[in-house]
Amino acid sequence: MAENEMKCPECGGKMERSRECGVPVCTGCGHHLGLARCYCGWAADGGDGRDQLIEMGECLDDDY
Ligand SMILES: [Zn+2]
Ligand SMILES: [Zn+2]
Repeated sequence: MAENEMKCPECGGKMERSRECGVPVCTGCGHHLGLARCYCGWAADGGDGRDQLIEMGECLDDDY
């Protein structure tokens, strides 16, 4: 398996699995594969993922 050679669905950049986030993260745009927001502060809508998680009751299963 070549998990470290995945391409970002957003920008086509290289994705590397982040131990901090637990998912592959794009080295180009920061896209988190399979996530809409993350505790590291990233969010798909450009907001603050950590704040969004807290406001949502820290539910990690939300997928809009
Ligand atoms: Zn993250
Ligand atoms: Zn990207």
